[in-house]
Amino acid sequence: MISASGSYSDGASGRIPPMSSQINYVLAGDIGGTNMRAALADRTGSLVASGSVATEPERGFELAEDRLRALFEEMASGVPRDEVGGVVISSAGPIDPGTGIYVYPPNLPGWHGKTMQPGLAESLDMRVTIGHDATLGALAESRYGAGKGAHHLVYVTLSTGVGGGIIANGQMVTGANGHAGEMGHLLVRPGGQSCNVGCDGCLEGIASGGGIARAAQAGIEAGRDTSIIGMSGGDAAAVNAAMVFEAAAAGDALAVEIVDIVIDAVASGFADILNTLDPEYLVVGGGVTGSLQPYWSDLHALIEEKALPHFKGRVPLHVSPLGDDVSLVGAAAYAFDLADSKSG
Ligand SMILES: [Zn+2]
Repeated sequence: MISASGSYSDGASGRIPPMSSQINYVLAGDIGGTNMRAALADRTGSLVASGSVATEPERGFELAEDRLRALFEEMASGVPRDEVGGVVISSAGPIDPGTGIYVYPPNLPGWHGKTMQPGLAESLDMRVTIGHDATLGALAESRYGAGKGAHHLVYVTLSTGVGGGIIANGQMVTGANGHAGEMGHLLVRPGGQSCNVGCDGCLEGIASGGGIARAAQAGIEAGRDTSIIGMSGGDAAAVNAAMVFEAAAAGDALAVEIVDIVIDAVASGFADILNTLDPEYLVVGGGVTGSLQPYWSDLHALIEEKALPHFKGRVPLHVSPLGDDVSLVGAAAYAFDLADSKSG
């Protein structure tokens, strides 16, 4: 930002006044299959303004980009533009990390080969970076969440799918191709139910919301006597994970069986994560995490049983306090990092 080299030598104090305003805000975005969110965040990690619009990926990529742009403009409208340091967008993927180009994203049909990065950068006249949602989630938890100040943290989201992000030595771990942290595909139960990718008994196949629903549907198809089918109005296709947890709480045999398998699979996966990465914090979020709360002490004990002996009495398992905002807060944290590295 310093343009005149002569100013180094002619000032009496030898100090140069700042030529640009301070970066006090950044814009953060979060693109999911259902909604797109945008927020203006400050340096405390607070979302000082936030809003959301429906993604409606089937109505076309360009229309979605226009609506997200309008939302960013609205979020930034209350503060001086030169105090806003840039935009980071967390998105469901897969995404090429260098370009932000989507690679057959299952929840954003029709968006393969496209990226919002150049269009938004031009129209907003700001740097725009697109990142992996769970990795940004891990960054959020290490800055503002359960592991504030942690240098080694893993974030896992047990949701419709299972995602993960890694902070090691204080840095986001992205991998050679941007796919690090895919802990949903840890093979925790060989021969068990597979995920949509087709791996054999992976964590996502068994413990995601989708996996739990499919396990119940398989039981119903096999003729098991269960109250779950009644909860879905007799329609097996309408069964969801919440119904399975509700039935398990009421003692339904099929549901209890499924939940036991889920807990065992999650414990195996988490033990593998602890053994491999030795994090200070293993932070868990997502809807299935909420449903597992009544079983949390059982899960904790089982992880301790499966992990290496040095985790005895010190399994660092935490529920995300950031909840649904986790990826937005992580996007904001990364946007400040990028703005500061650029100006510093
Ligand atoms: Zn898998």
